[in-house]
Formats: sequence, C-alpha cells, structure tokens
Amino acid sequence: MKVIEKINNRNKTLFSIEIVPPLRGNRIEGIYQRIDQLIEFNPAFINITYHKDEAEYIQRKDGSTVKRTISKRPGTVALTASIMNKYKVEVVPHLTCGGFTKDQVENALIDFNFLGIENLLVLQGDAGRGLDKFIADPGGHKYAVELLEQVLKMNEGKYLDDRLEQANQSNFCVGVAGYPEKHYASADLDSDIQYLKAKVLAGADYIVTQMFFDNKYYYEFVDKCRAVGIDVPIIPGLKPIALKNQADVLPKLFHTDIPQDLANEVRNCKDNKIALEIGTQWTIEQAKDLIKHGAPVLHFYTLGAGNSIRKIAKEIF
Ligand code: FAD
Repeated sequence: MKVIEKINNRNKTLFSIEIVPPLRGNRIEGIYQRIDQLIEFNPAFINITYHKDEAEYIQRKDGSTVKRTISKRPGTVALTASIMNKYKVEVVPHLTCGGFTKDQVENALIDFNFLGIENLLVLQGDAGRGLDKFIADPGGHKYAVELLEQVLKMNEGKYLDDRLEQANQSNFCVGVAGYPEKHYASADLDSDIQYLKAKVLAGADYIVTQMFFDNKYYYEFVDKCRAVGIDVPIIPGLKPIALKNQADVLPKLFHTDIPQDLANEVRNCKDNKIALEIGTQWTIEQAKDLIKHGAPVLHFYTLGAGNSIRKIAKEIF
C-alpha cells in the first residue's frame, strides 16, 4: 500500500521508522534485531537510507597510495525486499541524485518496480565526506526535484529511451525532504520553502522533515508551508539523543538547534546511560505534543537509538 493511502486512511497518528543499512561486511540479522524491537508497535512504513559510494585514498605498506571506491553501506534494494517479505510491512527505500546517472536511476526504478516496491523517498543525497556542498555526478541529477520528475515520468510510462513502445507504467508514491530549520545550503527558510513547493507542484505526495528538537520549528514550518500553498502531509522526523556528545555533534551534522536547557543537561550528565534517559524523555514530550497538534505520522531515526525508540513507542503508541 502507498504511504499516502496509509496517511489518508489513518484514524490516529501513525508510527514509522528509518533504518540505516548495515556497514559493509556486517550481516542483515543486526537490522532484523532492530526491527524486531519495534515491530509490535506496527510501523506504518520503514524507510531505508541510501549511501553512495565514496572514494578513499588508502596508503599501502610500501608507502604508495591507491584510490579505492567503497560502498560502505551497500544493499538498500535487497534490504528493502527482504524486510518487506519478512515483516509484510511497507518499506520506503531512499533514492538519491548522488551516486546515480539518469540511466542508473531508470534501472533502479525498474528493479524497485519488479520487486513490488511502490514507495520511495527522493533526495539530493549527502554531499559526501570532506565536501561542504553537493556536486552532481556527471550524467546525474542535481536537485531532488529533477529526480522526482524522472520517477513521475516513469509513472506515466515514459522512459529515457523514448523509442520504447507500450512501456510499463510504474506506480510510485514519492516523498521528499523538508527542513524546519532550513536546509544548510539555503540562504533563508523562505527560499528553501519555495524549492520545497516546487517538489510538491512536481508531484511529491508528502514531506518528511529533518530531525528537530524544538517543536516550535515544526509548527512554524508547517504554517509557512501552508501559507504558500503546500498542502501535502508534513511528517515530523524525530531522533532521541542517545549519547552525551550528541548535544554537540547533532547540530553540526544535521544543522539543527538543540534547546539550551536540553543541551546543557545532556552535556553535564554523568554518563551516556543518563544522556539516553534524558533524550528519551525529551522525545516522549515532543511526541505527545506533536500528536496533540495532529501530526499525521511520527517518523523516528533509529540509528543508535533503537532502545530509546522502543521505550518511546511503548509510552506513545
Ligand atoms: P533538494 O530538494 O534538491 O534541495 C537541496 C538544496 O538546494 C536546498 O537548499 C534547496 O533549497 C536547494 N534547491 C532545490 N532545488 C533548487 C533549484 N532548482 N535551484 C536552486 N536551488 C535549489 N541523504 C543521503 O545521502 N541518503 C539518505 O538516505 C538520506 N535520507 C534523508 C532523509 C530525510 C528525511 C532527510 C531530511 C534527509 C536525508 N538525507 C539523505 C540528506 C539529504 O540528502 C540532504 O539533506 C541533501 O543535502 C538535501 O536533500 P534534498 O532532497 O532536500 O535536496
């Protein structure tokens, strides 16, 4: 079932999670264990992130340097199909501009389609290690809206090779990302929201937000989006702080503001166990307030936070 149908048919706020594929060389069972912890709370869908290959310069014993391209977290497509089969749950693989030429996007879409995957989250993709802004791959898309347009063309049966006749139409439901505290590369929130609106006008079905720790940002963002005519569901993304150092690391990595009181409490607490308790309690309060305000879904980023999300889900869902 499409995510948008689940949202439209809901009679309460839904629960969903995002999973990161295992690091190269690790087994799929680690992911299953994480899902096993949370499956009893009936996630409406499970997102699987995508991580493009990264070039690394490796120093050999003889002193020479060799460039290797490594996929650190391979397996998004296989993981999606395995989880759908095992848990009979909707899975939403992420598809990024980075790491794909347009032809490779088309092939990936064909694979998704063959596997019965009908939900995607379409993104520009992270800039990559050591880079402070995204650079499009040769032959690839630059912005998520372009990738979205390619997906939606396939929904009309239009492939890159326009000589194809009677090509199959896909039936993807597509989500896009939004940033309550603005995307890091945007000059200001208003212009960022205009580009978000372009994704919605192009046909995005819903928006999932970057994590935030102060609901005020989400409520103001939703108001601004509605004011410019963005009328699709806006799903808040939540991440409980699980480690002391995240009070300083998360704002840098995700360009989000952690309220001073919360940041100080986490920084000054005795150890990570206490930090996790503080983070869990904070997210529980955020979640309760978001539900009170009618959030369609609460979407949880699980990386390193599986135990706390279980506690939160027990309290909330
Ligand atoms: P876009 O919508 O393309 O926007 C990128 C920037 O360009 C914004 O500043 C926007 O305002 C601007 N912009 C957009 N269109 C135009 C235009 N036409 N002209 C000029 N400027 C424009 N990254 C991964 O690598 N893998 C993942 O699995 C992943 N999952 C994510 C899930 C969520 C819910 C979120 C919020 C982010 C995720 N990311 C992931 C990170 C994401 O790829 C980065 O934040 C990326 O920098 C922006 O992606 P986007 O799709 O929002 O980009």
